[in-house]
Amino acid sequence: MRTFPLTGKILQHLETLTRYRDTSLLKISLMNTLLSLTRISEVRLYDVFESEGEHLLALSAWSEQGEVHGSNDSPSDDQVVMVEIDSPIAQALSTQKSVAIQSVSGYQTCVPIVLGDKPIAIFEFDSEQLITDHEQDVLDGVIGVFRNYLDLLRDSQHDTLTGLLNRKTFDFGFAGLLASYGQESTHPSEDLRRVADNHWLAVMDIDHFKRINDKFGHLYGDEVLILMANLMRTSFRRHDRLYRFGGEEFVVLMRNVDVDGVRSKLEKFRQSVEQHEFPQVGQVTISIGFAPIMTSDTPSVVVGKADEALYFAKEHGRNRVCGYDELIASGELAPMKSNQDADFF
Ligand code: GH3
Ligand code: MG
Ligand code: MG
Repeated sequence: MRTFPLTGKILQHLETLTRYRDTSLLKISLMNTLLSLTRISEVRLYDVFESEGEHLLALSAWSEQGEVHGSNDSPSDDQVVMVEIDSPIAQALSTQKSVAIQSVSGYQTCVPIVLGDKPIAIFEFDSEQLITDHEQDVLDGVIGVFRNYLDLLRDSQHDTLTGLLNRKTFDFGFAGLLASYGQESTHPSEDLRRVADNHWLAVMDIDHFKRINDKFGHLYGDEVLILMANLMRTSFRRHDRLYRFGGEEFVVLMRNVDVDGVRSKLEKFRQSVEQHEFPQVGQVTISIGFAPIMTSDTPSVVVGKADEALYFAKEHGRNRVCGYDELIASGELAPMKSNQDADFF
């Protein structure tokens, strides 16, 4: 009978945990659940990445005196750290089992979260005393529910063919991103300039893709889409967000980079596509339009501007990178009316 109230509490927490469709909120909810159901004093959650056989970590949620915080952006390169050799985290990652060590304030325990055969995240928590078997059962159960739910969430956020983020994730995430700029802004004009200088959206569309399908068949067309996604993953930075928008259209969200940086990055990508030998198909080219992300814009306005620049690139020979602001400044494009919505190819 003793376990009844606790069972009710656990179920309530599981209900809360599975309420979220947003990965960072899900992580924060998990941390609160663990802090509430066990005698853990502080907890940290790291995302785990693999790069050239090495494990890299990025802190994605953490508690400070019992209050949980989370980061809702993909980590930039300077936020990613290597795993220290022989550290408890390294041991937990290599054995894929929990590792507990004594620390100055009690105990530190690392629990890996493994999906398939890959560790995708790791918990590190502090507790005054070693956790009991019962607490371990609660931890394992709650973390197991989190892992399975995260797996489902990831499936729903990604495009099945290319593995890039899908359109639904873009719509949800981009609206949230613009809304968060609005909240942060205390001096609207200043913030507007900052965002305009640093955050960009590019839309990319494969040239004459229909011809590839018609000439080589749909399967080769699909292969081109997969290879294009791979080229995107190797060309852009870890914290750039890569989406397949549908068909042969892709979107990239870039931040912390100036206009010259964006242009040269996109130009380099365009060239790497042009120079890539696609099996059987040979040469494929891509047209790209980009625009700054302003706090005052709605998602459809930002996408619409980049899309206009893309349309211009298509109309002027394809296999080109065009920036919306540059086209407006040169008079080659008339400014978009603010109520104009995005209309993709
Ligand atoms: P443009 O240079 O103007 O962009 O011409 P395009 O031929 O690339 O553009 P269009 O919009 O005429 O054709 C896009 C084609 O993409 C038509 C559609 O059948 C094909 N397509 C859409 N989704 C997929 C897919 O998932 N796989 C394959 N293989 N083809 C797809
Ligand atoms: Mg196309
Ligand atoms: Mg298209």
